[in-house]
Amino acid sequence: MREEMGEEGYRETEMCVRCAGSCCRLQPGHCLPSEFESAEAVRAAVVSGKYTIVLLFDQHIMARVVRPHYKDPEARTGCVFLREDGCELPFSERPYGCRMLKPKEQDDGHCEPQGISIEEAGHMWEESGYLPPIWNSIIPVK
Ligand code: SF4
Ligand code: SF4
Repeated sequence: MREEMGEEGYRETEMCVRCAGSCCRLQPGHCLPSEFESAEAVRAAVVSGKYTIVLLFDQHIMARVVRPHYKDPEARTGCVFLREDGCELPFSERPYGCRMLKPKEQDDGHCEPQGISIEEAGHMWEESGYLPPIWNSIIPVK
């Protein structure tokens, strides 16, 4: 499925082992369009149930991003790829947003997203031509 395998990013640290993937238990990281070959590849990924399309929507943005599906879709938490011993995907096949989360160095520190933000990724996805028109994705409120 992936055209562009990524080596850029931050590998797991001892801190990640200690916190047991808090980030992955919360929300999956965002993919970039360049990680897929085509609109068909995105569609196949979503149909597989492993990936989903989420809408970023507030007064500043209305855009969609593709990312791994939730482990618990009802609660909208966790990542489908998270196993007891960590992420099942090889590092290079993980979403850009996962690879670019810089682990904290101190227990009282913060893990910091680097590079292309989820909002910027949303704009990239809308311009990619890999998603159906956004209005087809929105159910009108009657
Ligand atoms: S990046 Fe941060 S939240 Fe994620 S596993 Fe590592 S230390 Fe934990
Ligand atoms: S793809 Fe892997 S690294 Fe990314 S959120 Fe899921 S389990 Fe974590």
